[in-house]
Amino acid sequence: MAGMDRRKFLKSVFLGAGGVLAGTAGIKALRGDFRIYTHPLGLADTLPEMQEEMKLILLGTGMPMPCIYRSKPAQVILAGRKVFLVDCGAGVVTRLVEAGIAPERIENVFITHNHSDHTSGFENVFISSWNSGRSMPLSVYGPGNTKDIIGKLMAHLNWDISLRIAQAKNSPEGAKIHYGEMEEGLICEEEGVKVTVFPVDHGIVKPAVGYKFEYKGKVIVISGDTQPCENMVRYSEKADVLVHEAYSKRWLDKGLKRFPEKRAMVEGIMEYHSSTLEAAEIAQRAKVKHLVFTHLIPGPAPVWYFEKDWAKGVSDVYKGKVTVGRDLMVL
Ligand SMILES: [Zn+2]
Ligand SMILES: [Zn+2]
Repeated sequence: MAGMDRRKFLKSVFLGAGGVLAGTAGIKALRGDFRIYTHPLGLADTLPEMQEEMKLILLGTGMPMPCIYRSKPAQVILAGRKVFLVDCGAGVVTRLVEAGIAPERIENVFITHNHSDHTSGFENVFISSWNSGRSMPLSVYGPGNTKDIIGKLMAHLNWDISLRIAQAKNSPEGAKIHYGEMEEGLICEEEGVKVTVFPVDHGIVKPAVGYKFEYKGKVIVISGDTQPCENMVRYSEKADVLVHEAYSKRWLDKGLKRFPEKRAMVEGIMEYHSSTLEAAEIAQRAKVKHLVFTHLIPGPAPVWYFEKDWAKGVSDVYKGKVTVGRDLMVL
């Protein structure tokens, strides 16, 4: 079955299954713009396809160290009918489904840099979106070494891909990847959504970039991993939402007192990331309306009093709205 036909077929099966559970009255609700249903294959597509106002969902607010309540870095932007995935940390597909986004809707992926905590879920994004009906090539945007590194990640899937085309009749077009490598400028424009890429400073991790999304007057900026840099101020100017990575220096300092043998590792972290107070200063200088912390080092439990302590002092530096991000938070 061709990709789109297959997608429609699967949707009709799922709507039917939901209808059986929900009864006749439920079928009308399920066929409305906002659908909530569960279905046997574990996919989800519960968000309205059309988003008049651009929306951001944090999928993973964690860091390289494993953490059960904070998945590895990823976020998704919904604007109009488009879905843009930014970074693919491990666990990203599970979080997408939990957020109510069917993986087949992912056609555009943006990589901030090729550190493994940001790319380790890529294969699952590729396979899950393709298996569930994506029949278009996947567009992968990122800085200069993206095609080289993602290409190597994909190389071992060639055998699996050929089997799925032959046996499961997956779309051959959907097996393709189109790469767009750029480090500064307008990298993508689709259906009124503009995506601008800009270089950031992640120390020895070069190249590394951030992204600015614009749609119907709303601006969302995503820092990727960076120490404080002027480009963050320049590209975030007056943004509605700035999603910035951060570590809590207070928490890391406290940790060092208890585990002094970790000093080299902790100092390494501080060398190429931003503290909460440094990110707050960026947000204040750029006059952004809402600062959202992600890539939390070390990740506090998602309970307000831990998060408040983790970000202590931020409101002294930045006078706008502050949120310590949590997985599946919608902004
Ligand atoms: Zn990194
Ligand atoms: Zn990272």
